[in-house]
Amino acid sequence: MKIKLNTHYSELKKNYLFSEIARRVAAYSAADPQKKIVRLGIGDVTLPLSPCVIKAMEKAVAEMGKKETFQGYPPSFGYDFLLKAISNHYAAYGTDIGTDEIFVSDGAKSDVGNITDILGSNPVLITDPVYPVYYDSNVMSGNSVTFIPANRENGFLPSPRGIDTNGAVIYLCSPNNPTGAVYDKAGLQEWVDFAVSTGSLIVFDSAYEAYIKGDLPHTIYQIEGARKCAIEICSFSKTAGFTGVRCSWAVVPRELESGGVKLAEYWARRQSTKFNGVPYIVQRGAEAAFSKEGYAECMGLVEYYMENARIISALLDRKGIYYTGGVSAPYIWMQCPNGLSSWEFFDELLNTVQVVGTPGAGFGANGEGFFRLTSFGTRDDTVEAVSRLEKIL
Ligand code: PLP
Repeated sequence: MKIKLNTHYSELKKNYLFSEIARRVAAYSAADPQKKIVRLGIGDVTLPLSPCVIKAMEKAVAEMGKKETFQGYPPSFGYDFLLKAISNHYAAYGTDIGTDEIFVSDGAKSDVGNITDILGSNPVLITDPVYPVYYDSNVMSGNSVTFIPANRENGFLPSPRGIDTNGAVIYLCSPNNPTGAVYDKAGLQEWVDFAVSTGSLIVFDSAYEAYIKGDLPHTIYQIEGARKCAIEICSFSKTAGFTGVRCSWAVVPRELESGGVKLAEYWARRQSTKFNGVPYIVQRGAEAAFSKEGYAECMGLVEYYMENARIISALLDRKGIYYTGGVSAPYIWMQCPNGLSSWEFFDELLNTVQVVGTPGAGFGANGEGFFRLTSFGTRDDTVEAVSRLEKIL
């Protein structure tokens, strides 16, 4: 062919993290098929959808089968019933988000990846280690990225102190994947103040907000000034087990504007041009997840995973191993013992006790020497993994 391609795709680093894990596990299993491997590397939920969600989706399926209640294309930005449910969710955190500021979508991944469509060429700041989508989507757009180191010294919660830039796009994720670290109000306030004073935009990924315990911000809009500088992207994936159902939302506050243009106008244009909405059945399920009864059921799922997190964290506490996460996040980010690199520790766990986790180096340079364990497994697998790890840590 003679067409020109987007050459920025050739600048992407090969994403070999999960394929390399799969390769090493498959090679180990092939050599020793008797040994049962326990996986704590999984970033996907394992429990089924809650009864309220299923009931609502079944009702919606029945509606789709009747002429009077059949639904065609959904509204581009979400049905009113779901916009109201999301707005009420924010109200429960003491924040006032209008239904006109919410854009329902098919996943936080889509939104954090697509947001570059409405942004020009700006300095981009991304914490390292990081959920890879922020970085890759900026490389695809030809943007140059500056990494902000997250490390043991700053508790994996870097601040803007010492950063000298204007008009930047800053990606923050709290509770964080992969580190499980969570910003408190003061920590987020620093970022919001920095963004407002430098005319920057924060893209705030709150996909794990349902896992927060105690007095920590669930949404960036609990921070004063955030409406002037932040887009928030959140999801039903980890709150309600919707990873295979697909429903999320972005909040683009009315106040956000640059050069006299409202960001919400551009995002509305982008979404209505390139996206045709989330299915009615799915939105009814999402609405049910935010009903009183449905939310209680979803919190039951979250609590199950967080009990797994407590079981894993207790082991690390007993062994005196440094880690972040596991309290207000389903991820536990541990330092590899004995100065091992992430992949050396991965191999040791696989070869000696057949436990699989995720090497931190796969999430960025600052992840080297760290290892991510997740609480999304079954209780039995988690208990089994911990008893095996107990022997070698
Ligand atoms: N944001 C973060 C930080 C994640 O870890 C994930 C999934 O692992 C996503 C977004 C994707 O969410 P969704 O399933 O809504 O696309």
